[in-house]
Amino acid sequence: MYDVHSKCADDFISHEEILDTLAYADENKENIELIDSIIEKARKRKGLSHREASVLLACPVKEKNEEIYRLAEQIKKDFYGNRIVMFAPLYLSNYCINGCTYCPYHAKNKRIPRKQLSQEEIRREVIALQDMGHKRLALEAGEDPVRNTMDYYLKSIETIYSIKHKNGAIRRVNINIAATTADNYRLLKEAGIGTYILFQETYHKESYLELHPTGPKHDYNYHTEAMDRAMEGGIDDVGLGVLFGLDKYRYEFAGLLMHAEHLEAAFGVGPHTISVPRLKHADDINPDDFDNGIDDDTFAKIVACIRIAVPYTGMIISTRENQKTRERVLHLGVSQISGGSRTSVGGYYEPEPEDEKSEQFDVSDNRTLDEVVRWLMEMDYIPSFCTACYREGRTGDRFMSLCKSGQIQNCCHPNALMTLKEYLMDYASPETKTIGDRLIEREVLNVPNERARSVVLENLRLIEQDNRRDFRF
Ligand code: SAM
Repeated sequence: MYDVHSKCADDFISHEEILDTLAYADENKENIELIDSIIEKARKRKGLSHREASVLLACPVKEKNEEIYRLAEQIKKDFYGNRIVMFAPLYLSNYCINGCTYCPYHAKNKRIPRKQLSQEEIRREVIALQDMGHKRLALEAGEDPVRNTMDYYLKSIETIYSIKHKNGAIRRVNINIAATTADNYRLLKEAGIGTYILFQETYHKESYLELHPTGPKHDYNYHTEAMDRAMEGGIDDVGLGVLFGLDKYRYEFAGLLMHAEHLEAAFGVGPHTISVPRLKHADDINPDDFDNGIDDDTFAKIVACIRIAVPYTGMIISTRENQKTRERVLHLGVSQISGGSRTSVGGYYEPEPEDEKSEQFDVSDNRTLDEVVRWLMEMDYIPSFCTACYREGRTGDRFMSLCKSGQIQNCCHPNALMTLKEYLMDYASPETKTIGDRLIEREVLNVPNERARSVVLENLRLIEQDNRRDFRF
């Protein structure tokens, strides 16, 4: 029985409710009157239910889809302005005892070199990341309770936060590791993580069990209920995602929104982010072996529908996608992207030798961070290295109320400009710096509050002339 408040995965991601939703969406996908009323509701920026959003996703009517895209772009502008938050993944270990059939880290893969970074290696990687200009990391690891212990993660987080190389610092560490206990989530929270990220992979339980035939991850309910335990452990910024390509995208979309609705209903705060990874080629994994790949148009439609369904939730896209796809979905709702990424265990400090490749998937955007930053600015986006909310305690519902208060433009916009200025001073190529300084000059005028604007101008001066760093609202 579908129950949004239940703590049991089978109830809050009810298979029957998803099937009913898909049938309802099919029946109504050309019901213009209903579609118009859903779009009208979405214009109020209060979000949509999984049923309503599923109707829009299924709708094939060209003019209505154009309206959906326009609205997604507008909501994106209203909530996130032209800021794009930058991050990089850091793979700590690819030891894994799971049998995930789509992931090259699966335990039976004897070909891929297995690595776990030591604290010294983490130090070297982090210095290399700081020297690129990164301030925000997403830690990644396979599941191996003997090697990748909670103690190892806690130590690694401590190491990462402790490294201050030149003007560099990692100011926010997010983490994407296997589902664990509420007590462990509490330890991660105490260690100062930002977001706990865990992809559901697929919400279709039967497929899930087949795609995860062995290992702890086989336990669908334990995995699906992880965010509840994370919230019980005190983590109020959690990141959802499905791996598109594993099961039917409309099923996944409904499941994803039901998961968001459940967190909102049970804890009063929805997901901080949603990631939209697509299955990629990797070591012994061929995406063509999976039947449910989605094309670029469908992918763009999913992003647009997520944007209008959950306006307050950030959306993340990784270097699984190429420049062209990233460009398209940035307009439609994506608010965070990675740049200069390596998906290998190690590889920032020095490239892995050809015969020792440990990548999790092929990267489709191989540009450097400087190139990505310049490309964003050439499209009038502001690459933001801001980490202020989490450091000011604005997580969970406190972050949501900042969004809802309309103060974002007086807070996030200045923070984006000041952290971009730091990047330009410390890491940018001369060409990127010239473009960036011009952008900042223009954009500072868009800080609405006069007093905030003059503080930003003064801080920008201090960053440039006095080598001061880390200002934030
Ligand atoms: N081990 C962690 C867990 O149990 O959830 C997750 C960390 S894993 C390093 C990060 C994510 O990479 C996975 O959740 C999965 O969605 C994604 N991934 C795995 N294989 C992939 C592939 N072939 N292409 C694209 N993404 C993949």
